[in-house]
Amino acid sequence: MSIEKYIQQFSHLRTDINRNRWTPATYYHAPHKPFLLLSVLDLFAQGFLQTNFISIGPELGDLFAHYWGIGIMENRRGNLALPFFHLRSSAFWHLIPQDGKEAALLATRQIDTLSQLQALILGASLDEELFQSLKVEETRNVLRTILIETYFGPVHHSALLNQGAVNIKAYLYSQHLIKKVHEQIREDPGEGDQYQAIIRDQGFRRAVVRVYDHRCALCGVRMLTTEGHSVVDAAHIIPWSVSHNDDLGNGMALCCLCHWTFDEGMVGISPKYTILLSAELRTSLNFPGIC
Ligand SMILES: [Zn+2]
Repeated sequence: MSIEKYIQQFSHLRTDINRNRWTPATYYHAPHKPFLLLSVLDLFAQGFLQTNFISIGPELGDLFAHYWGIGIMENRRGNLALPFFHLRSSAFWHLIPQDGKEAALLATRQIDTLSQLQALILGASLDEELFQSLKVEETRNVLRTILIETYFGPVHHSALLNQGAVNIKAYLYSQHLIKKVHEQIREDPGEGDQYQAIIRDQGFRRAVVRVYDHRCALCGVRMLTTEGHSVVDAAHIIPWSVSHNDDLGNGMALCCLCHWTFDEGMVGISPKYTILLSAELRTSLNFPGIC
C-alpha cells in the first residue's frame, strides 16, 4: 500500500494564507487543518479509531486544544469546527451528513460554530486506504513529520513532536487510572511520581473529566465549549503536593469558579464525599442576590 498519494495531499492542504493574520511560525498559513490532522493521528495512536468514523467529540477537541495551546498561536482561539468542515476540500476527508441534510451540507459554504456543524453532519470518514494505513505507526510518523515540517517553522518542530508523545503517554496514564477503579486496585500513593509532571497532569485531568462527563462536581454545570473541548479542571481532593495520589477517588472535575472556591477553602469535601461549606461562605452577604 503506497502512502505517496497521502504525503502529497497532506503537504498541499488548502489553508488560509495571510501575512496580516498569521505569523512566520506557521509560514503565514492558518494552522487549523495541520492541528486537526495531528490530533487525528493521535486518536489512531491511542487506538481510538477502530472504525472509519471520526466524531466531533471532546476527545478530538481536547487534543486540538492541546496543540493550539503549546505557544505557537498567541492571542488567538482555536475553533475545531473550521478545519473539520473545510478539510472537505481534501480528497481523503469525507463529511458524513445527518439524515436529510445532504443538500444543506452541499449548499453550505461557511461554518462558524461546532453546533452549526453538528446540525449538518454526524462526523467524517477517511479514504479507506488511508484509514488502513494510519493503523501503522510508521505511516503515522511519516505523515506527522510532513505536517510539522510543511506548516510550522523549525523552532517549533520539537514542541509539536513532544506534544504528540505527551498526548499518547497521558492517554495511557488516564486509562491506567480508570482501570484501577474498575478493578478495585488499592491506591498506591506515589506511583504517579514516575511520570513527567506534564504527562501526569494531562492524564489525570483526562481521566477525571471523562469520569465526570465534563460536568462540575459541585455546581453540576457541564463545560464543553463551542470550540469542542472541555474546560472543566481536574482537582485533587487532597492536594497532590501532600498526597501524591492520582487515584480517581482523590479527584473531581470542577468549573473555574468552584475550583477557586475549593482552593480558597470556602468549599470542602468530607471523607464521605459530602460537600462542606465554610462559615465564611454561609454568611448572608455571600448568598447570591443579596447586596
Ligand atoms: Zn462549578
